[in-house]
Amino acid sequence: MAQSSQEEQTHSILTGWINEPLMTLQERVKMKKPMTESQICIYCGKTMVKGQEAVILKNHPGSSLSIQKNLWVHKKCKTKFATFVKGL
Ligand SMILES: [Zn+2]
Repeated sequence: MAQSSQEEQTHSILTGWINEPLMTLQERVKMKKPMTESQICIYCGKTMVKGQEAVILKNHPGSSLSIQKNLWVHKKCKTKFATFVKGL
């Protein structure tokens, strides 16, 4: 039993996310105000505006496998971005 627990722990360390609760879609993709202007909108490529509500696409936090950066899309660009994704 202790051995199984050890294996699970090792597996968790290797995979990073295995024991962490996964965020729901509503938690990963939502409206949020950027705190900096160091990101660009992935649709138009222009800088995000600090404090101006936009769409954030969050990466899974705390995972050793994931890059921690989040993606942003301007509120005015979200429909065009969705149409673009639909057409891929
Ligand atoms: Zn944009």
